[in-house]
Amino acid sequence: MNYYSTNGQAPIASLEKAVVKGLAEDKGLYMPEQIKPLPQSFFDNIENLSFQEIAYTVADAFFGEDVDADSLKKIVYDTLAFDVPAVKVTDTIYSLELFHGPTLAFKDVGARFMARLLQYFLKKEGNGSQVNVLVATSGDTGSAVANGFLGVDGIHVYVLYPKGKVSPIQECQFTTLGQNITAIEVDGVFDDCQALVKSAFMDEELNKHMKLTSANSINVARFLPQSFYYFYAYAQLKKAGKADQMVVCVPSGNFGNICSALFGKKMGLPIKRFIAANNANDIFFNYLKTGKYEPKPSVQTIANAMDVGDPSNFARIYDLYGKDHAAICADISGATYSDEQIADSMRDCKTETGYVCDPHGACGYRALKEGLKDGEVGVFLETAHPAKFKDTVDGILSDDIEIPAKLRAFMQGEKQSVAMTKDFSAFKAFLMNA
Ligand SMILES: *Cc1c(COP(=O)(O)O)cnc(C)c1O
Repeated sequence: MNYYSTNGQAPIASLEKAVVKGLAEDKGLYMPEQIKPLPQSFFDNIENLSFQEIAYTVADAFFGEDVDADSLKKIVYDTLAFDVPAVKVTDTIYSLELFHGPTLAFKDVGARFMARLLQYFLKKEGNGSQVNVLVATSGDTGSAVANGFLGVDGIHVYVLYPKGKVSPIQECQFTTLGQNITAIEVDGVFDDCQALVKSAFMDEELNKHMKLTSANSINVARFLPQSFYYFYAYAQLKKAGKADQMVVCVPSGNFGNICSALFGKKMGLPIKRFIAANNANDIFFNYLKTGKYEPKPSVQTIANAMDVGDPSNFARIYDLYGKDHAAICADISGATYSDEQIADSMRDCKTETGYVCDPHGACGYRALKEGLKDGEVGVFLETAHPAKFKDTVDGILSDDIEIPAKLRAFMQGEKQSVAMTKDFSAFKAFLMNA
């Protein structure tokens, strides 16, 4: 299948090109030329299928023309080596727990899929060349990408992160891995890390010397696989007899996650409607209200993975709905919460139900609690494990939540990182000599 750019000024790309390039030449986001509806028989029987079986059917619709069946099946099954349970929180609210993967956040799904798909293309080319993945992170993306690519032959990952600006728990998830992962600690802020990565992609000499690619979240190989778990959520609710009027609520930042849910709906997944839950970064919320998309600088919140002032995947949603504001509003409503409201929701949820939400999931829980209508059943996405934000969560809940063994294991590893200034020439020299 081919991919076009949302800006309409770049050449049509193959899947391989879209995956390796990430962003189109005109800075638009790649979109698949077709979104194939799945047959009714699939939905009739979905509750009897495993997560992997469901995911493979969805993956085949997107990638089946470009990846042979055996390889695609292996990529899907390897990617989803963990469960995504829909856990009952109240009679009408379920939490889709996306934190059972290696770094305890939903980004594991896309990162693991992309690593394996990239490896598939490298093997097919068979020229033995190594690909170098550069990724700038403010915390969560670095760990998901580093762990997704860990031990994958033919790929080396450089994670650039701002010194002293990521939490110790986040830091250990990409600095203790070794093997094909190099952590680079930049004396600067996140924007400096991103600037280094951008300069590297633009440097002709460097690109002649080594093959560089990016693994940011706008990559189609990271975003399309996220649709898998919406189908699985439906299957689980259907099994419980609760899927007739299913509402999906997605705590959103860059809007990649909810965008993959909207793709699912286009494929026939019977979701009644969607809620995009925001923290104080309310750009999309305002768009729904006014029809105007007005990006602004992000503000810092306790749900920090959603601190985005210009959500890149808005372009995909806009394209998917033919730039029609009314059509977007017919499927999606919005919510926006201050830090205080997020903290209140975490406390309420724990007191009323015993369930501990992380600050991101809490936005989703609250939006469902406020927004569900009679007869509807809501699923919110618990996008990360609360222990990833232990200090915040413990402070709000006056608790001492347990750190899962998987997370503790990272914390026992020895930190290895390369210190770097924000000066590009030093970074370039380092890569040239790597
Ligand atoms: C990345 C992230 C989000 C936001 O997802 P988008 O796809 O950018 O909307 C929400 N919660 C957590 C924990 C995240 O890591």
